Amino acid sequence: MPDALPATSDVVVIGGGVAGLSAAMQLSQRGSSVTVLERERLGNGSTGRAAGLLGQLRGTSAATRMLMDGVKIVGELEERAEVKIFVQTGSLRVASTDERAREISDLVTMGQEIGFAIEHLPIDEVAGLLPYMRTDDLVDACYCPTDGHLQPAELVTAYLKIGRDNGVEYRSGCPVRGLDIVAGRLRGVKTDQGTIETATVINAAGPWSYLVADLAESPLQTAALGHVYLTTRPDDNQPVDRHSPAIRDRHLRIYSRPESGGLIVGMYGTEAVQHDMGSLPDDFDMSALTVRADDLHVALLIDATRRRFPWIDERTPLTITRGIMTFTPDGKPFCGRHPEIEGLFHCSGFCGHGIVQSPAIGVIMADLVLDGVTDYDIEAIQADRFFEHPELQARPGIETACYQMHAEYYGRIEGAHGAGSENTPGNDLSS
Ligand SMILES: Cc1cc2nc3c(=O)[nH]c(=O)nc-3n(C[C@H](O)[C@H](O)[C@H](O)COP(=O)(O)OP(=O)(O)OC[C@H]3O[C@@H](n4cnc5c(N)ncnc54)[C@H](O)[C@@H]3O)c2cc1C
Repeated sequence: MPDALPATSDVVVIGGGVAGLSAAMQLSQRGSSVTVLERERLGNGSTGRAAGLLGQLRGTSAATRMLMDGVKIVGELEERAEVKIFVQTGSLRVASTDERAREISDLVTMGQEIGFAIEHLPIDEVAGLLPYMRTDDLVDACYCPTDGHLQPAELVTAYLKIGRDNGVEYRSGCPVRGLDIVAGRLRGVKTDQGTIETATVINAAGPWSYLVADLAESPLQTAALGHVYLTTRPDDNQPVDRHSPAIRDRHLRIYSRPESGGLIVGMYGTEAVQHDMGSLPDDFDMSALTVRADDLHVALLIDATRRRFPWIDERTPLTITRGIMTFTPDGKPFCGRHPEIEGLFHCSGFCGHGIVQSPAIGVIMADLVLDGVTDYDIEAIQADRFFEHPELQARPGIETACYQMHAEYYGRIEGAHGAGSENTPGNDLSS
């Protein structure tokens, strides 16, 4: 018999991924009673599939600062929960075209202006750091020594441990079926196990969050898109130091980091599988998603990988991880209150970067729920920014816009010389 649901809760969080767990933890630390309702298993949605890359440098200073704060928060979590979450390997962006070299120069300037550790790195030094990577075609690179990766499972463990210590109630296998809204105000959350009375709900349902918004008869501009990355097995002929820097090569649209003696390589290509989350069963398990050996996205990934890491091809022993990400029309998440339903907050749409954003996002959500304001600059991530856009009120228009953003995610040039500058769509979160 599952534990009975609490009859009331100050806040109900829908979704037990990093976004919901971080928000719940922060709210509980500030004295709120919080219940997290999870459809399946905690941390087993997108969160359980993530590669965990943590690159703090973004195309805008506000977004970069948020991630720099996130690293500090992770340091505190590690101490309090006694788990190792962050692996500081440093990271490199590499450029093989003049356009990308200008982008790197712009980002180095922007980063240094706000006190972020970043510098150009001569190509011979890049080759020294990454002997297993092709470098003869590179024209510039920059190095961020304080970057690295987060271990998603350990991050979840820390959020849960600290949340539990502060009284958060977690319920797995408990999908939310309805929202009780009376005269534009939230009154409760309905599940098969009963109703919880609450005045505040955070929709942190990841790829499913547009379905939760449907329960309030309101569109949410997110789409669920597939993503794959490969992980090579350790190979004595191609040793990969566990502390090698992560790489981003936006020209080839790939990212990479070391993993247990092998290498993770993922890709933001021009194509992605669209998922209809409403057609999936209640007990859908994202970790059970499989991928065929002849899958087009895998073939494209291996082709791009081989151009930077020529020793990897379709014969290399490797595993493919497949998962679902939540994309938005401008590449930025939705974090904030619903303007027409009092007590409803959205916290979703992290476009492949929810692990690294979650530490600061939890603080922001707690600030917004409890104080109505936050010291963070959240102008670009307001939940209602597409409410007045007629073409983004129904699923076909929303899906097209999100798909397009995904296709351009790594393709766009950032910085002062790119199509984007401060506040240009998608300019700040796609590193
Ligand atoms: C292959 C892959 C690689 C990635 N790599 C990175 C990376 O390197 N770095 C990075 O920062 N991010 C990465 N991400 C993205 C990151 O995983 C997500 O941005 C992040 O996990 C989003 O967290 P979330 O809490 O919003 O969503 P989720 O983790 O999906 O959590 C949402 C939860 O809500 C639950 N839910 C849905 N509907 C209901 C309902 N009606 N009632 C109750 N519960 C419900 C779901 O079961 C789910 O557990 C990657 C993602 C994928 C798929």
